[in-house]
Amino acid sequence: MRIANLNGRMSLIRGDHAIDVSRASKGRFPSKILPALEAWDDLLDWAGSASDAGAEAFDPAALRAPIEAPPQLFAIGLNYRDHAIESGLGEGGEPSVFTKFRSCLAGPNDAVVLPSEYVDWEVELVVVISRAAERVREEDGWRYVAGLTVGQDLSERRLQMVGPSPQFSLAKSFAGFGPIGPALVSLDEFDDPDDLELGCRIDDEVVQKGRTRDMINSVPQLIARLSRVCRLMPGDLIFTGTPSGVGLGRNPQRYLKVGTELVTWIEGVGELHNRLVSQDEAGGRPPG
Ligand code: ZN
Repeated sequence: MRIANLNGRMSLIRGDHAIDVSRASKGRFPSKILPALEAWDDLLDWAGSASDAGAEAFDPAALRAPIEAPPQLFAIGLNYRDHAIESGLGEGGEPSVFTKFRSCLAGPNDAVVLPSEYVDWEVELVVVISRAAERVREEDGWRYVAGLTVGQDLSERRLQMVGPSPQFSLAKSFAGFGPIGPALVSLDEFDDPDDLELGCRIDDEVVQKGRTRDMINSVPQLIARLSRVCRLMPGDLIFTGTPSGVGLGRNPQRYLKVGTELVTWIEGVGELHNRLVSQDEAGGRPPG
């Protein structure tokens, strides 16, 4: 099942067509994705038998973040060994956990305003939690996942390095710094959700390409470790870390430029297309 947020309404995606779930189910399911997580298994059943009647072509510009106001947003630093090494921060191990403040979330095709010349890219697999979870055992981790989506953990590297210790949360939370989408894809759509290719490119140049099997802490391990401390809630997002190839780790260092397009993909999930614009071009308005 591929579920998207089309202008605020939960929609079932079939190819390049979409079905409005609440209307097609005659109100059995809500129009928003977040409250639908409580009946996720019922929704999966319904989606499996839903007819294509009422499916309509849609404008990709109408796609918004599948979850726009997660109760909590966890992000994991240094979760791929080759990225930990290129960052000069050791080889990774125990997950380094921070948050991206949720106001940074954006749609999969939104323009992103660059606040400076030091904005870096990080493709990440994003996990959407389906139900409340405390002290989950690693072997049960995937049972708490509604599905997967693509994320970009955009990062302003100067602000990140201001002060005595890294400012991950603030430096990664400018407006538009968390595009996610294009859909929330349920786990039954994957042969092996622990091994997906992910990457990103700037215009036509591939700058990151890796596989999620190379995570130091797998998705079930992250859920076990986070839920040992925090109560996870339906709709929580976990940005699971990025493989190597970011601009910070290059010699010379390299950052995103106005006028380019950042394309971010995960096998079996889809692509984000985010055009990078200046504050002037955005006219001072929020991105999108
Ligand atoms: Zn990251």
